[in-house]
Amino acid sequence: MLQGKKILLGVTGSIAAYKITFLVRELIKNKAEVKVIMTTSALDFITPLTLATLSKNPVHFEFVKNKNGEWTNHVDLGLWADIFIVAPATANTISKLANGICDNLLSAVYLSARCPVMIAPAMDLDMYQHAAVHSNLQRLISYNNKIIDANFGELASGLIGKGRMAEPLEILFQIQSFFNLSHTFLGKKIVITAGPTYEYLDPVRFIGNLSTGKMGYSIAENFAAKGADVTIISGPVQIKASPNIKIISVTSALEMLKNAKKEAKNADIILFTAAVADYRPKEIAINKIKKNTESTTLELIKNPDIAFEIGKIKTKNQLTIGFALETENEQENALKKLSTKNLDLIILNSLNDKGAGFSHDTNKITIFEKNKITKFELKSKKEVANDIVEAIAKKNNC
Ligand code: C5P
Repeated sequence: MLQGKKILLGVTGSIAAYKITFLVRELIKNKAEVKVIMTTSALDFITPLTLATLSKNPVHFEFVKNKNGEWTNHVDLGLWADIFIVAPATANTISKLANGICDNLLSAVYLSARCPVMIAPAMDLDMYQHAAVHSNLQRLISYNNKIIDANFGELASGLIGKGRMAEPLEILFQIQSFFNLSHTFLGKKIVITAGPTYEYLDPVRFIGNLSTGKMGYSIAENFAAKGADVTIISGPVQIKASPNIKIISVTSALEMLKNAKKEAKNADIILFTAAVADYRPKEIAINKIKKNTESTTLELIKNPDIAFEIGKIKTKNQLTIGFALETENEQENALKKLSTKNLDLIILNSLNDKGAGFSHDTNKITIFEKNKITKFELKSKKEVANDIVEAIAKKNNC
């Protein structure tokens, strides 16, 4: 898959350096050409011999190789690479790259490289949260570098928090996404609501629906493969997303709304694919409700409409996209929702069409804009996701 791709890997002095062996092995298995640069502090964690053996190339870590004047040409390395990955990237190296400090081979290659650069930070949680590191990362982003965000988990210090380097397979996935597909949405933040909501009436029972989340997750994968930074606010589903997609798991409509409002603030595009329950029980009983009576009444109150609420606060640069699942007066209802929810696009799937809607792996859609209607054939949800993402790309002038 990565045949002929030239990948330059910069390894710095973090305990996560040992994990880079797995990344190098995967890159070679995928037929990439790999060259490795190490900082001198990385040499304390892992030997050049290990990385040279795995990458099938000598490892570079100093400008001058020996006393006879042989030297490593940082310009050549920078020009050779199709992509430069700095992983793990310590706070020290991040600071140097952000500020143009050029006191070792890795930072000199960074400044001379013309290719895209991805940086995978690794450090302790307090370091990662420090305002200095944060502003350095922001500065690197503003220079068009991609930051592969650190993960939450147990750190080498024994503390638990955010700072673990992204797993080698996550980094591999980012590299594959970079080479495989167009980068129409690079740098764009996409937020997608997906799946059902569960509205509890007591600790063990809820009102829910049959939404599987497949459509929303397929759209998320398609955006991510095109370089977007994707977050799914997901109701309870059985599907797993690729590691480069951020999942915020929620249960109820209220929780979904709270997270949608928060995530929407810096989103470019927001899609509402979730099948949000229209109503929720007025009260949630603290204990399991007993069957003491022959009949019972459950009082329901209206849930907020997430698309409508976001539609009220969206800015003129944000696109919002909704879905309509209709059984009658389809076009009229879809157009009405487009306007009341202040959407830019609405995607209709009709339950009158065989193979469309809930639980199927296929779907048949019509996309409505204010002055345009586009009909599509019955397709797999993955292909439908691609049609939707392409329509959004056109609307967004990507
Ligand atoms: O009004 P209706 O439920 O048919 O609208 C469907 C669209 O609105 C979908 O995009 C759905 O995700 C969104 N919606 C929502 N919050 C609700 C109900 C629907 O975001 N409470």
